[in-house]
Amino acid sequence: MSVLIFIDHSDGAVKKASLEAISYGAKVAEQLGTTAEGVLLGNLNEDIASLGKYGVKKIYHVADAALDHPDPQLFTDVIAQVVEKSGAKLIVFSNNLHGKAIAPRVSAKLKAELVAGAVALPDTGNGFIVKKNVFSGKAFAFIAVNTDIKIISLNPNAFPVSQTEGASAEVVPFAATIGEPRIKLSSVNKVTGEIPLSEAEIVVSGGRGLKGPENWKILEDLAAALGAATACSRPVSDADWRPHHEHVGQTGLAIAPNLYIAIGISGAIQHLAGVNRSKVIAVINKDPEAPFFKAADYGIVGDAFEIVPKLTEAVKALKG
Ligand code: FAD
Repeated sequence: MSVLIFIDHSDGAVKKASLEAISYGAKVAEQLGTTAEGVLLGNLNEDIASLGKYGVKKIYHVADAALDHPDPQLFTDVIAQVVEKSGAKLIVFSNNLHGKAIAPRVSAKLKAELVAGAVALPDTGNGFIVKKNVFSGKAFAFIAVNTDIKIISLNPNAFPVSQTEGASAEVVPFAATIGEPRIKLSSVNKVTGEIPLSEAEIVVSGGRGLKGPENWKILEDLAAALGAATACSRPVSDADWRPHHEHVGQTGLAIAPNLYIAIGISGAIQHLAGVNRSKVIAVINKDPEAPFFKAADYGIVGDAFEIVPKLTEAVKALKG
């Protein structure tokens, strides 16, 4: 009857979004009067037991090298085995890249209803009702989950990481039956030396208002001063001013940083769809009528080429 949380990691470290999912799962377990357990596939560079500080009491660990790179089909099979063994009735994922690939498969395999993109703890007072974002964050839906096994995938940045220093989890090696992978990984091309956009706390993003790729230096300087990742609107990546992995919006990456700074971006609805879950939005645009100002917490009306270098200097001065 426990809550089982999928522990997602990359380069040997647990992702922040997954720590949020662990904290969330632990809180739901407390709410349901049961225990929170984790399932970890592959290996970490850190002490696995120490993840107990986020609230998991037990971690099923499948240390097989075949699982070092996430393969959604293999992961689904192994998670299903762990669910069977543990008797978990609620499975929690982060609604991040891996969660989006694995949770629906686990849902189909276990015939367990999935609420993807949860933003709050479930209401367990009368049934099991989960709040989630719909219409690109424009509204909320409250979904009643009725199956015996339930699955929630939590939106990144929707729930804080909480920890109890010194707490540790029991690590249980799990001998899973691992089938033949149907996907063959031929190579991994990693972007190095940059803050991954999906994990970034601060994002500095540019649009067509920057006029051309040669002008991105001012945006990169600001991002470097803030320790931020860089992003862009779709026309910018379509024009090859910036790489496609920086494109945010309805047809690009959906992000939820603590601070999103939009520079020379009009704020079309398709762009907002990917960034409107940011905690704070700051907009720099020379057109006071730009729609982005309606979604902004802070706005500066003015020329980006004047404002951004001044902002960078101010940030540098503040940081000493
Ligand atoms: P523009 O609309 O050209 O806006 C440029 C802005 O820069 C203007 O507001 C202007 O006032 C300002 N500006 C100009 N010069 C300066 C200056 N010197 N200083 C300060 N400000 C200045 N778009 C996305 O971004 N992501 C998506 O995922 C996406 N998906 C889409 C899906 C569909 C099906 C469709 C139809 C469209 C999609 N779009 C998407 C495109 C979207 O509709 C907009 O066309 C796009 O977001 C506009 O990009 P932009 O704001 O960079 O450019």
